[in-house]
Amino acid sequence: MYNLWWDIIRSMKITILPDEVASQIAAGEVVERPASVVKELLENAIDAGAERITICVEEAGRKLIEVSDDGSGIPAEELSLAVARHATSKLHSAEELFQIRTLGFRGEALASIGSVSRLTILSNQSGQKIGARVDMEGGKIVRSEPAGAVQGTTVKVRDLFYNTPARLKFLKRDQTEKQQIDNLVSRYTLAYPHLSIQLEEDGKPVLRTTGNGDRREVLAQLYGVDLARQLLEVIFEEDGIEINGFISPISINRSNRRDITFFVNGRWVQDTTLVTALMKAYQSFLMVGRYPLSVLFLHIDPKDVDVNVHPAKAEVRFRQPDEIFTSVQRAVRRALMAYSPVPQLVPTFWRTHNDDATRFEPSIEPAGLAGSERLQDQSDGITNPSEVDGQTGQLPHFSAIPILRLIGQIGATYIVAEGPDGLYLIDQHAAHERVLYEKMLNTRGQVVSQTLLDPLVVQLPPQSAKILQENLPVMKKIGFQVEEFGINTFRVSAIPAIFTGKDPHAAIRSVVEDFEEDETPLQGLVEEKIIARICKRMAVKGGAVLSTDEQQALLRDLEGCAAPRTCPHGRPTMIHLSVDLLERQFGRRGARSA
Ligand code: ADP
Ligand code: MG
Repeated sequence: MYNLWWDIIRSMKITILPDEVASQIAAGEVVERPASVVKELLENAIDAGAERITICVEEAGRKLIEVSDDGSGIPAEELSLAVARHATSKLHSAEELFQIRTLGFRGEALASIGSVSRLTILSNQSGQKIGARVDMEGGKIVRSEPAGAVQGTTVKVRDLFYNTPARLKFLKRDQTEKQQIDNLVSRYTLAYPHLSIQLEEDGKPVLRTTGNGDRREVLAQLYGVDLARQLLEVIFEEDGIEINGFISPISINRSNRRDITFFVNGRWVQDTTLVTALMKAYQSFLMVGRYPLSVLFLHIDPKDVDVNVHPAKAEVRFRQPDEIFTSVQRAVRRALMAYSPVPQLVPTFWRTHNDDATRFEPSIEPAGLAGSERLQDQSDGITNPSEVDGQTGQLPHFSAIPILRLIGQIGATYIVAEGPDGLYLIDQHAAHERVLYEKMLNTRGQVVSQTLLDPLVVQLPPQSAKILQENLPVMKKIGFQVEEFGINTFRVSAIPAIFTGKDPHAAIRSVVEDFEEDETPLQGLVEEKIIARICKRMAVKGGAVLSTDEQQALLRDLEGCAAPRTCPHGRPTMIHLSVDLLERQFGRRGARSA
């Protein structure tokens, strides 16, 4: 046996493959199935600046895939070149790989597709009276001539894999191949809402977008109006990384990752780092084995991402993956927090202890965090955070809370209040933090300062002094008047008016102390962070007895907040016991079998 193999191997000589065979092998990497052809042609149309793109497939793309666009077109004299291997108008040198702003750059797609199908390209460059046409069969140009055509390009791919029977055999059922195409086109319609994209299968329209740029409208087409309007919008920009798109609230989730989509610089990528970051942001919000629905679009400097690491360009490599990871997690987390509903006491979390008294175990989970199944039967009581104004399509004041009637303070820590829909327990510290935070954010730029009668002189350790000194412009912007007053010493002559009567020393320290412990680079300090820290320090503490007036004022202020349900760090400010829940618990309605 061994000898036989050895003979065979020895008889093999190194030869260079004929062009045709080489092309077919290369094509295997780019053109795996009909959906890959659609992807390449669609990307070419997008690169050509098209505004309207029509995709027609027949028999799941086996018989025909035709993509027409109204883009720039291909100059007649270059048409034959376009189907040659490594022929591209998008890249001229290796350095340019890191400045790529087009989806294509390898000049491989048309050549590859042409080598495994019967390919016809009809194109007319803008401004030309007459266009050109080229026909290719199994990798060879069989016809090339001038032809009348409207502006733009039409690419027809017939009989895909007709000359590579092995590939043909690997195709799945029509249904599956069609699904792949639908999925792909859907994702591109989301990524490019300002393009009008139309998909037709066997003469029947499957999808058509208007191209008006409204991503939520595209989402409505893909997932239904109801679901689309419940999705939370992500808008994020930090350290040169921009992330936007939509994610599902915790109440909407899936049993698989299929509805998790990432685009990086306009390119659809499947990247485990990105998915992990997303999942991390949802951690503890979703039950194990459940996945969110999300479409997120990352925009980063092209020099920070290598797009040339995968044959179908479905993967990219980030220069600083950790930063991207953190940003995605932060962006998603923030969106989730901003829209998180008022936490409710969830009956299933009440535990009975083995002593005879049934104790009230404060296992409180914010309602939305308890998993979808549970959330569904809790529509009672609270304003649905996911209602979208039907007329404007705008997200309303998501987290508004009703007018609350003060009942009193308990444990010098919580404020008890009644709303039209039940009882509210408010954490005075978290609530006050939120109130101060929004007040400070709202008065940025037109800050009101309170001049101190006795300017305060603070001396700080060198490291802290440096931090404060670096952040003096921000301090000034938010209402502090601080100036250097000798070595490591500062003079504070005014503080934001909302802190009138409070200890200015504490406010200053909050800026430096907390940041000393923080590992984050100093130059990364954003104003919001500083404000949040100061508010945390200046907010009334748990354990502080408040006068009725103070309690009342806190409630009113909280009602006026844009996001009253969470403190600036994302913790809940309140929990809610709905009337319905109380009635159930007291056996007035649908008594529990305990
Ligand atoms: P790549 O997109 O990587 O450049 P392709 O093989 O997909 O390689 O396309 C080769 C070239 O043909 C492109 O660089 C472009 O100049 C031209 N081309 C292909 N499709 C179109 C189109 N729909 N509109 C205009 N030009 C196109
Ligand atoms: Mg291309």
